[in-house]
Amino acid sequence: MSDRRPLIAGNWKMNCLRDDGLALASGLASKLSGASERPECDILLCPPATLLADVVGVLGHCDIHAGGQDCHFDKSGAHTGDIAASMLADIGASHVILGHSERRADHGESSTIIRQKTIAAHNAGLTAVVCVGETEQERDLGAAIAVVCGQMDVSLPEDATAENTVIAYEPVWAIGTGRTAAVADVEEMHAAIRRKLKERFADGDAFRILYGGSVKPSNAAELLAVENVDGALVGGASLKVEDFWGIVSACK
Ligand code: PEP
Repeated sequence: MSDRRPLIAGNWKMNCLRDDGLALASGLASKLSGASERPECDILLCPPATLLADVVGVLGHCDIHAGGQDCHFDKSGAHTGDIAASMLADIGASHVILGHSERRADHGESSTIIRQKTIAAHNAGLTAVVCVGETEQERDLGAAIAVVCGQMDVSLPEDATAENTVIAYEPVWAIGTGRTAAVADVEEMHAAIRRKLKERFADGDAFRILYGGSVKPSNAAELLAVENVDGALVGGASLKVEDFWGIVSACK
């Protein structure tokens, strides 16, 4: 048993208007306050930027963290539509997701940019949830581990520690598709990520490595039991209180 406390993170993506988002956050806060035992994991909600301040308000002092889904690498300036890491921290965020495959694809984000964003997040006092993952074609070519390790080499700055950085392994072909990676493949990839972390960082054994890709209540326990899987990054199933709580409850 590792002593890494699991993290279950919900990525709401571009979903939820105000009423739905606040109902979701308050539903989860009620689940937590009504639970007979404290869940065996940390919980993080990453709503759209428009709802972040309100979600922080709804969560109040309950032990659920809130985070952004992206930030810019500059501290401030002429970047229309972007959000600085310090702005997320300023409204009460503790984390920020960086390098999600949807941002890599939709916004052309390279691992070099993600590294700069990760440094900006750290400088603002945020924990960066850095996403890596291979495409289906890369897996079919037998290149999955090389691709993910290459993304880690560039995306993770030297100042990364287990305190300020979480890795999320998300095979691109498993995101939002209902397909999950085979347990043996998850185990192999997380072991490779752990080796990489230990090679590069003194506290590499303490980093949390999340799995993401169609995690739901019915498969969460099996995935969370895999060695070196220290939690989950959850998209679709984070949009329903019962589903997300089911995943939280699968942490034993
Ligand atoms: C995600 O968006 O990071 C994700 C894993 O989505 P889903 O759970 O819907 O596959």
